[in-house]
Amino acid sequence: MPQYKAPLRDIRFVLYDLLDIEKHYSTLPGATDLNAELIDATVSEAAKLIETVIAPLNRSGDEESCHWSAEGVRTPKGFKEAYKQYCDAGFCAISADPEYGGQGLPPSLQLVVSELLSAANNSFCMYPGLTNGAIACIQAHGTSEQKQTYLPNMIAGTWSGTMCLTEAHCGTDLGLLRTKAVPAGDGSFNITGEKIFISAGEHDMADNIVHLVLARLPDAPAGTKGISLFIVPKLMPAGGGKTGERNNVKCASIEHKMGIKASATCVMVFEDAKGYLIGEPHKGLRAMFTMMNVARIGTGMQGMAQGDASFQGALAYARDRLQMRSLTGPKAPDKPADPIIVHPDVRRMLMTQKAFAEGSRALAYYLGTHADMTMRHAGTEVAKQSEAMLELLTPICKAFMTDTGFESTNLGMQVLGGHGFIREHGMEQLVRDGRILQQYEGANGIQSLDLLGRKVLANGGATLRVFTNQIDAFCAQHESSPELKSFVDALKAHSSEWHTLVGDILQRAIKNPDEAGAASYDFLSYSGYVTYAFLFARMAAVSLAKIKAGAPDADFYQAKIYTAKFFYDRLLPRTRTLVQTMGSGSANVMDLQDAHFAF
Ligand SMILES: Cc1cc2nc3c(=O)[nH]c(=O)nc-3n(C[C@H](O)[C@H](O)[C@H](O)COP(=O)(O)OP(=O)(O)OC[C@H]3O[C@@H](n4cnc5c(N)ncnc54)[C@H](O)[C@@H]3O)c2cc1C
Repeated sequence: MPQYKAPLRDIRFVLYDLLDIEKHYSTLPGATDLNAELIDATVSEAAKLIETVIAPLNRSGDEESCHWSAEGVRTPKGFKEAYKQYCDAGFCAISADPEYGGQGLPPSLQLVVSELLSAANNSFCMYPGLTNGAIACIQAHGTSEQKQTYLPNMIAGTWSGTMCLTEAHCGTDLGLLRTKAVPAGDGSFNITGEKIFISAGEHDMADNIVHLVLARLPDAPAGTKGISLFIVPKLMPAGGGKTGERNNVKCASIEHKMGIKASATCVMVFEDAKGYLIGEPHKGLRAMFTMMNVARIGTGMQGMAQGDASFQGALAYARDRLQMRSLTGPKAPDKPADPIIVHPDVRRMLMTQKAFAEGSRALAYYLGTHADMTMRHAGTEVAKQSEAMLELLTPICKAFMTDTGFESTNLGMQVLGGHGFIREHGMEQLVRDGRILQQYEGANGIQSLDLLGRKVLANGGATLRVFTNQIDAFCAQHESSPELKSFVDALKAHSSEWHTLVGDILQRAIKNPDEAGAASYDFLSYSGYVTYAFLFARMAAVSLAKIKAGAPDADFYQAKIYTAKFFYDRLLPRTRTLVQTMGSGSANVMDLQDAHFAF
């Protein structure tokens, strides 16, 4: 089993050197007194708890998984106690509103903690993750009475949260959902329907579970415009933070899954369950999106975290495992063979894992700063600009980070040869636990349609232009640097090509909308590589400046420059294939008749 160690040095690099986070926090309402000392203390406290208490439950949780009975769902041994410790230490919802007991720390810092939690134990991280999303939604759309009733216990972690969207016949297409909400005459609603795949729908770690349920009112228009959002508690609140009678909601069964086995994935049945409208009638999907946007960055982060945990396991193994001699002569002549880390192909795999983890971390934390601005400067011009960046980059974060994370876990397993395939080393669990990330929170194909259709084509590439203007400004600033020339040249070319691709797809899609659908996935992947290229060029520039200024840990900065170079030489060129496939049109996927897929 890889022994997880929080990558604190790289985290500090991204926070301080790349994002100048102290300066960012110095103008952020509620965070102005956050200095490096406080930030480091929060992250290292979380790391200590996660490494020592939560990581050791990863393997046992996978083996034991969750157990359903008519009385409820039992989580694996140790989960309940670890969850209590995690919540008691205040990590459950560190960015929640202090008025309701939260610490009010910036969302970007919560993201850092969620990376560590997911890398250590992806099943475990689902429980506080879902609760955080529900808190964000109630904070943004609840009445003050709802906030007072639910938030203090949810923030303390004694009540947990869920998000109940999916039904058996509708996942992507929520416009089809059938769960009904009928006014009960006393301001509440009777909710009836069945939801499937509900993460943390039932478990034994919290005293109460607060379900956020999408349902239709009797007069609701058809489709997504007729969906409302309801709070449906498992146990009715009885005032003063206490619970009363049981509501008519029960967990009918749990799913048996390929991975995240210690996360309870529940079929939830609502039979005239008491629910309370949150937000406006028929505007539930928009309110739920508050939760889903937070959740999507978190899901991207989970992808990176699985890849990083796998990288740690693969690296330790590659330093230790002796097989064959180096092509350039023995590197460990006193041993019967060299460690496999000397072999170029093993290093190709490790470098790919390292580059994906570091590029993803930079993207997620960068998005975290935009989430800070959007939430803490609400209503201002800067918040609007940050929101536009978040909207553009969130589908890339969700899909590209989970795709590359999955590629990384596969490579990590490969580094161990046959030993990666057996359970002993835990590398196969990371592959299994990371696979769902490409499917839930909006399957990655849907993310690509969202990126290309809604975020790029719908505004003629205007938001993308704002982002590429930043890229172009970076290139102009560093154009004359001989050390950065190769990065700047490639980046400039991609920044301009990105818009050419948008123009080309737009022209073709006007005549035939399938052209956009057929190009979307390649477009998202292309966008992911270029976004990482921008971040790697910035990381290389910062590292170079540090080396020139005589920074004491020059090796770290030099390693960052080598990683950036690897990314540019070996991963960014994948955009050449993507340009070609994206430009090949829709006929090659659409011409074959449905009936002719198999004879
Ligand atoms: C472990 C787990 C946990 C989950 N947790 C939750 C939860 O907490 N709450 C919750 O509500 N749901 C949850 N889900 C459900 C999850 O979000 C859905 O499974 C997901 O959104 C996809 O929906 P679906 O499975 O119905 O697939 P479908 O919507 O049937 O899609 C099937 C395939 O078709 C593709 N597709 C569909 N429409 C289009 C289109 N227009 N163009 C191109 N491709 C398309 C999709 O990309 C996908 O690949 C969970 C699922 C799992 C497995």
